Amino acid sequence: MNSQPAAIDLGRMIDGIRRWVETESPTRDVRAVNRMIDLVAAGLDGLPVHVDRIHGRSGYADTLRIRTGPGDDRPGILILSHVDTVHPLGTLAGALPFRRDGDRLYGPGLYDMKGGAFLAYEALRQVVAAGTARLPIVYLFTPDEEVGSPSTRELIEAEGRRARYVLVTEPARDGGKCVTSRKGVGRFAMTATGVPAHAGGSHQRGRSAIKEMARQVLAIEGMTDYARGITTTVGLISGGTAANVIPQYCEITIDLRVRDDSAGREMTKKILGLQPHDPDVRLLVTGEINRPPFEKTPAIDALFRHARAVARDIGFDLADTRMTGGGSDANFTAALGVPTLDGLGIDGDGAHTDWEHGLVSSIEPRTLLMQRLLETLA
Ligand SMILES: [Zn+2]
Repeated sequence: MNSQPAAIDLGRMIDGIRRWVETESPTRDVRAVNRMIDLVAAGLDGLPVHVDRIHGRSGYADTLRIRTGPGDDRPGILILSHVDTVHPLGTLAGALPFRRDGDRLYGPGLYDMKGGAFLAYEALRQVVAAGTARLPIVYLFTPDEEVGSPSTRELIEAEGRRARYVLVTEPARDGGKCVTSRKGVGRFAMTATGVPAHAGGSHQRGRSAIKEMARQVLAIEGMTDYARGITTTVGLISGGTAANVIPQYCEITIDLRVRDDSAGREMTKKILGLQPHDPDVRLLVTGEINRPPFEKTPAIDALFRHARAVARDIGFDLADTRMTGGGSDANFTAALGVPTLDGLGIDGDGAHTDWEHGLVSSIEPRTLLMQRLLETLA
């Protein structure tokens, strides 16, 4: 492959990213996310692609599926982007307006992941217009990744099973690295039910759900084992009804991260098997591994090496990160054994914060990387 002069119009790219970022799309706001899906669909007019809009379900917005190569049913390339963000409506007018400061472009969801999604979308448009892809491509724009993809997991897995490669446009890490492994993620809920009583008049009759839960929280947090890459976090807690009532209820949510399936099974069993200390308090624990671990298999390593060679031809070094703690839709397809490469989005920092930003200098190389991956994967 020869290095060619870049065919990227940076000003136009920044304008496009700006339009996407200025269409705010918090996951739970179906109308807002659908406006974002409208915008993605509108940019495909006139291109020889087949577009399906899959109606949203379970309280989430629609998914857009773009297919190239009609009639070509060879296993091809699946690209995954989510258009939802964690930022509520009004973030743009408040804490995080779209703005450029030197190499940084700020805005809600700019880094995670509208910047990266826009780069891949542009790459797809270029490749489709030029007819240079070697494999058929399916591109999914999904509405619910930030809450674990409850309404799109089945579709992602169905398209994943039919794909030869999966490319995911989550943000680049630590100075432009891509992602070849991610921890698995489990979500659990625990409810304690005790016996309510007046805190003054009949203290002895009460059985405090909060007191029981306090011991459970310490036990759960104590399961963290950094050496094995296992973390447990009680991220939410609520309980009680009034200051002078021994609380009947308390509930928590538990976040679990593991490196591999066997640790996932072991920890799931431990968490689901937790027993109350107080025999008069009932515990109910539910939950499971939601995103299976994404481990770097030889096939994933081969895909990474290919991408690295492509990047070298473009003129930059592409490294991969050590296993990251955050899950993504890449976990689903990697767990099916389909070679999956993630972190192909824009470089930057501050995902999910008020200083979230992408780097202008990463737009051109990473758009070209996606474009040439679509042209070289076979
Ligand atoms: Zn993301």
